[in-house]
Amino acid sequence: MDKTMEQSVLKELDFESVNADLFDFLDRSPNAFFAVRNMKAALEEAGFVRLQESERWDLRAGGAYYVTRNDSALIAFRIPEKVFTGFQIMASHCDSPVFKIKTNSEITVEKKYIKLNVEKYGGALCAPWLDRPLSVAGRVIAETEEGIETRLVNIDRDLLIIPNLAIHFNREANDGYRFNLQKDMLPLLGEISDHPADGGGEGGAGAQDKRFLALIAGEAGVMPGQILDADLYIYCRMKAAHVGLHNEYIAGGRLDDLQCAFASLQGILQAEPTDSVAVHCVFDNEEVGSGSKQGAAGTFLYDTLHRINAAMGRTEEDYMRAVASSFLVSADNAHAVHPNHPDKSDPTNRPYMNRGIVIKYNASQRYVTDAVSASIFRSICRKAGVPFQTFANRSDMLGGSTLGQIALSQVSLNAVDIGLPQLAMHSPYETAGAKDTAYLVEAARLLFSGSVQSEGDGRYTLKFGK
Ligand code: ZN
Repeated sequence: MDKTMEQSVLKELDFESVNADLFDFLDRSPNAFFAVRNMKAALEEAGFVRLQESERWDLRAGGAYYVTRNDSALIAFRIPEKVFTGFQIMASHCDSPVFKIKTNSEITVEKKYIKLNVEKYGGALCAPWLDRPLSVAGRVIAETEEGIETRLVNIDRDLLIIPNLAIHFNREANDGYRFNLQKDMLPLLGEISDHPADGGGEGGAGAQDKRFLALIAGEAGVMPGQILDADLYIYCRMKAAHVGLHNEYIAGGRLDDLQCAFASLQGILQAEPTDSVAVHCVFDNEEVGSGSKQGAAGTFLYDTLHRINAAMGRTEEDYMRAVASSFLVSADNAHAVHPNHPDKSDPTNRPYMNRGIVIKYNASQRYVTDAVSASIFRSICRKAGVPFQTFANRSDMLGGSTLGQIALSQVSLNAVDIGLPQLAMHSPYETAGAKDTAYLVEAARLLFSGSVQSEGDGRYTLKFGK
């Protein structure tokens, strides 16, 4: 990208308002259930019609719809007015590495403390969870007259803390520490008073049991006895913020991968599809291998594309032809060069924050990018007027994987792995560039407005709309 082009981009895009909306989305989405709820609200406000997987779908050309699975994965799509030639898909994920609260969660310590039993979800960095305000959010399943219902709960205050062990008890703490997940990571909920009626003091009867459950039930607006089960996770209370000499960085919780999910959502809200169906797809459970009904290895995307095809009165042959002229962008954040560890990055593919969308390569296809899909995506970025850069792992280091390869086992089509450059991936508070989200919104808008028509023999006609 030459300098003139980058400068014209700087003028056009409103980085400030994009980041303000992103911060709001991050802060109000402590986990996948809330990310989906917030995306639903934005889609409904824009006129997208809600579909249920359990009901008949009556779709029409020019319509905009969304469907969720497990309340933790979401697909939104816009059908063009014309007979469609394919699907233009951006897939991201809305789960993040975290600590899940186990069932039977309360542990008392010496009749003085109440702490919560938790287990690790995904490849979380442990250290940054310690010594900062945390709270709890998730869903509870309540018994009703007819069956069961789901309620989301978020204890919106500083509730928990995981205290470090003082250095005086471990003089080698700064020489590298191996975290014991059953011992070091349990958050402190509070204390038990000395009053025997409260279960505390000598010979206390342990009436402290279910105090946490009562708190959750109160927040959910149900009686504790009504709660049959719950999926609850801790989250970091630190709000998203700008940092840097010129506010050039953003920091916040769950940038991996809510930053991409947010950009994809903004892209479809602004898109004007002409030839292909635009599909905004956000999966759950990427951080634990995607192997759930709401993950990329499940049938959610496959089922939804099939149902769109059938509801528009098209045949299976039409579906196969549409898939051959479709394109999937797997959008999941990428590692920027680290200022303290620049040697961890590949010698020639070195992404930096604020330098644009990262195209990820891996010869073993842990990233699905190839020359064709990268070329299609580079064309989209050029047309959008946004910068892009490249990532590959050092050849002597194993990198992460993402949902692209897994999604392709369900729906096999041309696909590229991309992401936005960030630092401290899988920390509860991550750092990224203040410009890059807006770049991806632009690229997503063009992706969703366009089409990738296969002409055979490696030739494709690319249309990008406006
Ligand atoms: Zn990710």
